[in-house]
Amino acid sequence: MSDALDTPLFDPGAYHLTYGQADLIARARRLGAERFAPRAAQHDRDASFPTENYHDLRDAGLLAVCIPERDGGLGADYLSYVLAAAEVARSCGATALTWNMHVCSTLWTGSLADDLEMDARTRAEHERRRALHFQRIVAEGAIYAQPFSEGNASAVGAIPFGTVAKPVDGGWLVTGRKVFASLSGHADYYGVLCTERAGDESASRRNTLYLAIPAHADGVAVVGDWDPLGMRGTVSRTLEFADVFVEHDAALMPRGMYFQAATRWPHMFLTLSPTYLGLAQAAYDFTVRYLRDGRRSSVVKQLAVAEMRIKLEQAKTLWFQAVSEAHVDPTPEQRLRAYAAQFSTMETANDLARLAIRTCGGHSMLKSLPLERIYRDSRCGALMAPWTAEVCLERIGHGSLYQEGETDG
Ligand SMILES: Cc1cc2nc3c(=O)[nH]c(=O)nc-3n(C[C@H](O)[C@H](O)[C@H](O)COP(=O)(O)OP(=O)(O)OC[C@H]3O[C@@H](n4cnc5c(N)ncnc54)[C@H](O)[C@@H]3O)c2cc1C
Repeated sequence: MSDALDTPLFDPGAYHLTYGQADLIARARRLGAERFAPRAAQHDRDASFPTENYHDLRDAGLLAVCIPERDGGLGADYLSYVLAAAEVARSCGATALTWNMHVCSTLWTGSLADDLEMDARTRAEHERRRALHFQRIVAEGAIYAQPFSEGNASAVGAIPFGTVAKPVDGGWLVTGRKVFASLSGHADYYGVLCTERAGDESASRRNTLYLAIPAHADGVAVVGDWDPLGMRGTVSRTLEFADVFVEHDAALMPRGMYFQAATRWPHMFLTLSPTYLGLAQAAYDFTVRYLRDGRRSSVVKQLAVAEMRIKLEQAKTLWFQAVSEAHVDPTPEQRLRAYAAQFSTMETANDLARLAIRTCGGHSMLKSLPLERIYRDSRCGALMAPWTAEVCLERIGHGSLYQEGETDG
């Protein structure tokens, strides 16, 4: 039997992947296994950002994975990217999670924005602006972060963002605070979600702007420390913006388009899940490899591995179906399936890591082995906004019992 890492999470034949997808996931898996895995323990121990991994991603063209080919990128679509992200996560969860923040800044402005409704003039302006943004990544290796959490209900879409963009001559003045900003201090641009407000008018989610703020602009500060339980290499510190001026070309999406995307292209928020699917696979891979090394004869351990495998297959199958359905205006069923896939992936990752420790025993908890890191990294998946576990449950429950617009009144 070949080593588990020799085989992709999703076998190209079994899952009917294209040649391009099979090639991309093979490259991502190899990069992860050869480069990221050996560095993961140290970044975890030091809570340091894996800068070398980002050099490798850049050299492999993977910072531009979702940038269209005509703009110099690899032109990967949503499905191809999430499959590759899951492979990266098998080796280093923190790299996969932060890579997601970066890639989304190109996916949302790229193929996803192509599906949104905008008039011809707005689209032409958007295409000009995103070309500037793509060029920074392709030519200069720029890295983008995606801070939208503020420690309130805005990140889950319940209220407008408290970070405000005030229109001024030539652009906006941005003021606010973002918490858990992965890549803080290491990104070149912060893709900040904020509410455009000219005066005293009440804030509205429809007026959300998505702006690329240069990391070294006047008024930007990275504050607070970073010593968390898991995902330590993400370096998700707090960002403060005090009257930061950005010009109109900083708009990663035209006015109103983030709101339209969040409403019509919900799978845009499912892209955090491949990281946790990769961690689930890593917990399973570890267990198989560990037990095959002279510890597999106990029937109790064999049954535990069987249980892990069943849970993993269930999560993978649901996830694959959901990510295959990512497109504009999904049906209500597809929307609910996406929430179910997010919930199941986030919960399964930590559940498999828990079972892996219980099955492998005390030695598997040692820092010299990756399992305890996988356990810690997977712990917080369920609270990743905007689709936290509870938000998914609420929406699945409500959406299953009520049709759109239906009330009890
Ligand atoms: C390692 C890591 C990296 C991160 N990176 C980023 C990043 O790059 N960018 C970014 O924007 N954010 C990032 N986050 C933040 C993340 O997405 C959450 O916003 C954050 O963890 C929420 O923390 P909180 O303390 O505000 O908890 P809360 O939001 O209060 O959540 C606590 C609990 O309340 C529940 N809850 C919260 N709101 C609701 C609601 N409206 N309905 C039902 N239940 C609800 C949640 O499900 C959760 O169980 C990161 C978080 C972590 C742990």
